[in-house]
Amino acid sequence: MRRLMLWAVLILLASVPLGADEPVLQGFTMASSPVERQWEQKFRYLPSPQLMRDYMQRLSARPHHVGSPYDKSNAEWILSKFKEFGWDAHIETFQVLFPTPRERLVEMVEPTKFTAKLQEPPLAVDPTSSQSSEQLPTYNAYSIDGDVTAPLVYVNYGVAEDYEQLQRLGVSVRGAIVIAKYGHSWRGVKPKVAGEHGAIGCLIYSDPRDDGYFEDNVFPKGPTRPAEGVQRGSVMDFASSNPGDPLTPGIGATPDAKRLSVKEAPSITKIPVLPISYGDAQPLLAALHGPVAPEGWRGSLPITYHVGPGPAKIHLVVKSNWDLKPVNDVIAKIPGSTQPDEWIVRGNHHDAWVNGADDPISAQIALLEEARALGQLVKQGWKPKRTIIYAAWDGEEPMLLGSTEWAEEHGDELKQHAVAYINTDGNGRGYLTAEGSHTLEHFMNGVARDIQDPESGASVWQRDEMHSISEAKSEEERKKIRDRADLRMGALGSGTDYTSFADHLGVASLNLGFGGEDPDAGVYHSIYDDFYWYTHFSDTSFVYGRALAQTVGTAVMRLADADLLPFDFNDFADTMQLYLGQLKKLAEDKRNEAIERDRELDEGLFHAINDPRRPTVAPPREEVPPYLNFAPLENAVDQLNRSARRYQEALQKAWASSQGVPPAMLADLNQKMMESERRLTDDAGLPRRSWYKHMIYAPGVYTGYAPKTMPGVREAIEQKRWPEANTEIARVAKVLENESALIDSATAELASAK
Ligand SMILES: [Zn+2]
Repeated sequence: MRRLMLWAVLILLASVPLGADEPVLQGFTMASSPVERQWEQKFRYLPSPQLMRDYMQRLSARPHHVGSPYDKSNAEWILSKFKEFGWDAHIETFQVLFPTPRERLVEMVEPTKFTAKLQEPPLAVDPTSSQSSEQLPTYNAYSIDGDVTAPLVYVNYGVAEDYEQLQRLGVSVRGAIVIAKYGHSWRGVKPKVAGEHGAIGCLIYSDPRDDGYFEDNVFPKGPTRPAEGVQRGSVMDFASSNPGDPLTPGIGATPDAKRLSVKEAPSITKIPVLPISYGDAQPLLAALHGPVAPEGWRGSLPITYHVGPGPAKIHLVVKSNWDLKPVNDVIAKIPGSTQPDEWIVRGNHHDAWVNGADDPISAQIALLEEARALGQLVKQGWKPKRTIIYAAWDGEEPMLLGSTEWAEEHGDELKQHAVAYINTDGNGRGYLTAEGSHTLEHFMNGVARDIQDPESGASVWQRDEMHSISEAKSEEERKKIRDRADLRMGALGSGTDYTSFADHLGVASLNLGFGGEDPDAGVYHSIYDDFYWYTHFSDTSFVYGRALAQTVGTAVMRLADADLLPFDFNDFADTMQLYLGQLKKLAEDKRNEAIERDRELDEGLFHAINDPRRPTVAPPREEVPPYLNFAPLENAVDQLNRSARRYQEALQKAWASSQGVPPAMLADLNQKMMESERRLTDDAGLPRRSWYKHMIYAPGVYTGYAPKTMPGVREAIEQKRWPEANTEIARVAKVLENESALIDSATAELASAK
């Protein structure tokens, strides 16, 4: 899974106030809103912290990675729970490529000998840490097999800017093995960028500065990473090709699906890669000479960080069993009473790297309590209008295998029927973090206003607002937060199961979770992420588990019951305006940087400031970027803002009129709301990665989990492909024009209601 996300700040329309004590819910009528509120109140009373604790103990009792016996056992147990709660449920199985380690070796062969342990020791106090025979060894899944020996180079976090710094230091990684720190990018970016610069192997380690003793006491005294703890994780290059099974891109990995060979699979790394602990990394780093690492590169180990290359020389061996394994998705359903063909889909994965109490069970238990509570409401007579589908995904950790295969297999149905997808993946103490499609931003603000924060007693929305104000960097930022009605949601990147729904199918999606009050979990993807750790250092009383169930369940109910689907385009249009401004500034900054760089070269600046004892190399001359033509996008965003406003006005008028909106028109409008996110996709997809169809949101090719908004344009500018930037500006403008046309047709329909 990925770690946290942020709300920021923004505007919006208040919910339509219509006199009663509580505002009428967005998408409901004066008559239907109070009924909905009563059912929601009943619902929020039901989730039980004690039951969640019990579920966690059961689901994290043994290691449960893809293909393991306990993974299957958990799927069957979750299935039995859904049935017990009164849901129509089944398991859907796919066959996916899942490599597991056959051979792993990291040894220093020069100037001294050292062999890395590559082993996390059990701790007496932590009962499940000793289940060694069932634990997956520490490794990075989908690393190519390799056996390489070469000098070592330290590359900081191993992102593109770090290689520019290396170039200034006169250090090349060609033919070398690099060692990079975890953090500041998704892990798979590190071997990708290293390989592009000519490295032949990659080690990734967790520096104690980032999630170890610099942050807090190490486990078991505190929550952070001990010296021999290792972060496992996938390095599949999903962002440049596709997530899911590497052998069946774009289609479901059913038993008889047409498969690529492992050699043909585009998402397997180009160089071998292995994760190590800081216990294993320290002797290697200590044996490096060459330039002292720039200040920002230094971690918290008691050594002077040097860059290399060498004299440390490393022998790295990685070999895997390249087997197909089953993934077992548990799919459960409550059929809709009046609009069964409109689906609200909600998911969380159940597989883990090891015991995975935090990732993913801490949010899987909320999903189960939502399911129990919704089942009870049905028994009490609640009839959701729309169909509700709950999914406990398998195979998320290797790279979204279960959710991607299911979404690909059912792609046509989902494009026709899916209203929205709501995801969670882990939960902790603190603030509600939300990211998602901005057509649902106003809706999500409404939900957050109705949930009580367990620690402060305020609404989670109020607490988030206060937190944003406290974190704001300037008077101007604080003013923006205070002046605006709604909090702003972050955009979706990737790293968890919403990816196929949002990026491939164009289903409006949300990703939710609480966190922020505990230090970054240093047990992430290690054998120490287990029941003992969670019940000592995270949401120990499970009250935030209950808050998460209340938040997500309320959102699901509101979407399932609304008379008119609560999509809103004002906040969406406003967000597009913001992205447009960012892109124009980015292009301008690139121009100015290039002009400044070339001027400094002409002035002889780099020669003049060179220190002969610590020599640096002047950077290469930059081509000054041309001006881009943003006009099509400026016009499209402008039009979108007008269309959004007119829709809102027409809606308020029609909703307030004595006749309301006639049922046939409502059905048609709901279809249009469902289509609104689909309109933001383009079947040809993004340049060089056509699996990604959404023109507004995508994971970054060089960030992995972190989002790139208007990604075709943004990445073209970042990567200096100027003609492509102009082409992509026109493509984004086109989808926004189509969106405006859809909104205008809804407005015209509303205006015809008398
Ligand atoms: Zn996860």
